[in-house]
Amino acid sequence: MSEKILNLDNGITALLLEEHIDNNEIPDADIADIWIVNNDKAWNVKKFLVRIIRHQDPKIFLKPIFLQKSFKKTYKEYKNYNLKHLCDGYIDDLNLKNKLGSIQFITDFIKKSNLNPEIFQENDLLKKITAYYYSRDKNIEFYESSDSLSGYSYPRIEAHYDSIAEAYTNTRLILNNAYKNDFLSRHYVDTSHICKKCSSGFLNYREECPKCRGHNLQARVLIHHFRCAFVATENTFQQGEKLICPKCKTELKNIGVDYDKPGKIFYCKNHTCENEFQKPLVGVHCINCKTEQAPSELKLEKIYNYELTHKAITEILN
Ligand SMILES: [Zn+2]
Ligand SMILES: [Zn+2]
Ligand SMILES: [Zn+2]
Repeated sequence: MSEKILNLDNGITALLLEEHIDNNEIPDADIADIWIVNNDKAWNVKKFLVRIIRHQDPKIFLKPIFLQKSFKKTYKEYKNYNLKHLCDGYIDDLNLKNKLGSIQFITDFIKKSNLNPEIFQENDLLKKITAYYYSRDKNIEFYESSDSLSGYSYPRIEAHYDSIAEAYTNTRLILNNAYKNDFLSRHYVDTSHICKKCSSGFLNYREECPKCRGHNLQARVLIHHFRCAFVATENTFQQGEKLICPKCKTELKNIGVDYDKPGKIFYCKNHTCENEFQKPLVGVHCINCKTEQAPSELKLEKIYNYELTHKAITEILN
């Protein structure tokens, strides 16, 4: 396989990845300090990055990997792949200027630490996560993604799982346990409502008839005729182009003068129901698992960003 090695700032060597990505093959970790993606096929890039993240060898999964800004437009169509969150982000024109310090730190960390692949053979994900985020000096932050189950995703952890349901459950489990064991501290960011059954955030909220739970409703405007105090929906007044009061048979001409519109009521279009009512219920339909539920039944999830604690750095990495 042809390999292109570049010499960049500060003597850093970079391997340009093109065929490796098309063939989904892991390059030799020892022949360059960093890897730069040189491939415009977003799906292939995603597959490759996921394979790197899942790799057990710290020399591979900790490798600094960059995307090139010139491909950004092409990748943009595949925004839901979260490519930049599956690696170290973009560089512009092979310029590493403000990344030199962090690249040096990562390569030193890989060399110095006794992170031999055996440590990771048991697939201790927390250990991998700790090593990765420590080497990047970054917090574990969520990103909003329509490709994830709840809409809130921790892409680098979730990349370890094939199904989005597994990714959701296991990621939350790892983060929660690590928090309870003082390996992570957390910072509240948002509250989200998710399906009580499958935890999906892809929900359809709609008004429902309190009698039959149907949701094919029509909002009807109410008319109040001042002269005879009759109140009914607008359609009962309509006679051709005119509004005629069904009670006193007078024509209504000027809103605010002889009549007003005090509000609206709902009409249920279910033919066996035809209920008229003022306060509809709200029902929630889960697009993912089709479960119907009331808003009060939804699961409440707090969204946090996480930070490695001193305990994690000293106990897990040593
Ligand atoms: Zn109804
Ligand atoms: Zn009237
Ligand atoms: Zn559901």
